[in-house]
Amino acid sequence: MGNLMPRESYSNIFDISLDYLINDIHIKGLIFDFDGTLRRNKTVSIDTLNFLKKAHSKGLKLSLLSNNPYVSKTILKVLNIPTTKKFACKPLKKPFLDMAKKMNLKPEEIAVIGNNRLSDIWGANRANMYSIYIQNLNGYMFKRKIEDRLKDLGIKHIK
Ligand SMILES: [Mg+2]
Repeated sequence: MGNLMPRESYSNIFDISLDYLINDIHIKGLIFDFDGTLRRNKTVSIDTLNFLKKAHSKGLKLSLLSNNPYVSKTILKVLNIPTTKKFACKPLKKPFLDMAKKMNLKPEEIAVIGNNRLSDIWGANRANMYSIYIQNLNGYMFKRKIEDRLKDLGIKHIK
């Protein structure tokens, strides 16, 4: 299952070194996942917007690929980021390669940043893009906390 292995792994996007990607890996564009990556705990933070602005100001082309068709209009408007209008069909290779075309970049010049090993990391690796996994531990711990509390109340399953 080597295809599920990311090239880099962080607990949030702010730990990503843009300079390393640009200067050492020769990355020219970033494809972001939305839910759990840019939007966390149901909001897109100012820090996230600033990170995107910083990436943009360093000359990186930005785009968004989400299986959720209702991505934040704020992000798209503020940064003029392209995305697909509908369900992106990750982890199929095609949406990644189509986006590369749209960005006018080769797959190997693109880093995919996402919190799902299957749809984001597997898809990126198969499309021959550089994969960066965001381990959403906050969300995970939060869910665990709620589950523990519900268990105390005698409720066993939540989805
Ligand atoms: Mg996600």
